[in-house]
Amino acid sequence: MKILVLNCGSSSLKYQLINMIDECVLAKGLCERIGIEKSRLEHSPTGKDKCIVEEPMNDHTDAVRLVLNALTDAAQGVIQSLDELSAVGHRVVHGGEFFSDSVFITDEVKKAIEACCDLAPLHNPANLIGIHACERLMPGKPQVAVFDTAFHQTMPERAYLYAIPYKMYEKHKIRRYGFHGTSHKYVSVLAAEMLGKSYNEAKIITCHLGNGASVCAIDHGKSVDTSMGFTPLEGLAMGTRSGDIDPAVIAFLMQKEGISAKDVENLLNKKSGVLGLSDVSSDFRDIESAAKNGNQRAQTALDAYHYRVAKYIGAYTAAMGGADAIVFTAGLGENSASTRAEVCSYLSYLGITIDAEKNNCRGKKVDITTSDSKIRVFTIPTNEELVIARDCKALLG
Ligand code: ADP
Repeated sequence: MKILVLNCGSSSLKYQLINMIDECVLAKGLCERIGIEKSRLEHSPTGKDKCIVEEPMNDHTDAVRLVLNALTDAAQGVIQSLDELSAVGHRVVHGGEFFSDSVFITDEVKKAIEACCDLAPLHNPANLIGIHACERLMPGKPQVAVFDTAFHQTMPERAYLYAIPYKMYEKHKIRRYGFHGTSHKYVSVLAAEMLGKSYNEAKIITCHLGNGASVCAIDHGKSVDTSMGFTPLEGLAMGTRSGDIDPAVIAFLMQKEGISAKDVENLLNKKSGVLGLSDVSSDFRDIESAAKNGNQRAQTALDAYHYRVAKYIGAYTAAMGGADAIVFTAGLGENSASTRAEVCSYLSYLGITIDAEKNNCRGKKVDITTSDSKIRVFTIPTNEELVIARDCKALLG
């Protein structure tokens, strides 16, 4: 069984073709600059040379067509024909309150995804375009939607409701949804295995620290709270996103700077976070190296970042009445030993002790605590594409 996993952004498309017999990646790649000039496809077939295709892509249908051509190409391809594909799995960012699990895509499902476009205006329309493109190019091929929000649909009301008039929730569905669900689920399942505990009995806190970042509390196999909310702007400070701020700042900025609500939204999403604090970069490698070279603002940005991650871990330990394990994942969580060490330096009150030597690792599944640590701390590489492919396989039966 071979599954094609697609992740469509507004002007990009990432893909992986996964052989579900051994869960190996047969090929992966990226289409960039869809709909603008100089669009290109970078195709990496496993065991063969990477190739770049520079061809105009007017829309996502063009992009999907080029990807399918690359996958079946006589030289750079990895399958003979599209008949070998059992299904296409689409990452869909927002499933609102409609979806608490992955589903086969039907007309009704597409309508529900469309109804969530207001909640994720940058992502859901692009996801729908990708779905339509596949329907056009591979009619009848089973297609599955896997939602970033689905895993968090188990949050209780007390966690997902904002303390604003309840009718705003009823009327506009303003509530906390949470994101990165596939990643939190994937690493928490592995963490339970590493603990030697049943997933349905463990209390796990997962920290997905990439460009976007969120923390999740998983109690007895269910997401009970997570730091992102109505949109992926809430919660931790991130590469360019502010995370939590006093909502009064928005009106204050509009008045004092004479800017629109849209401008403030842009400032909080694109110019804030560690980029805004440091004025160096949104990339943590740049900020860590600037801080090492004595840039005080870069150091302040890192300090603020670590402090907030630690605060959420503390909050979620309280929410669950303890924790068995804390997991670090995604670009920064998997690769930055100093981030893990700095965050955990706040957590000795929980009886957590980090083994500096074990923590000196990158991109590996490792328990980084000493044997007497009261809570285990793991680094676990995430694999969102594999979760999507596994969900397709499960649905296909
Ligand atoms: P996304 O998928 O959200 O775009 P990633 O999970 O790829 O993001 O994470 C990207 C972030 O991880 C970047 O800020 C990058 O600097 C950081 N990162 C990757 N490798 C390292 C490393 N070795 N040290 C510190 N930060 C790293």
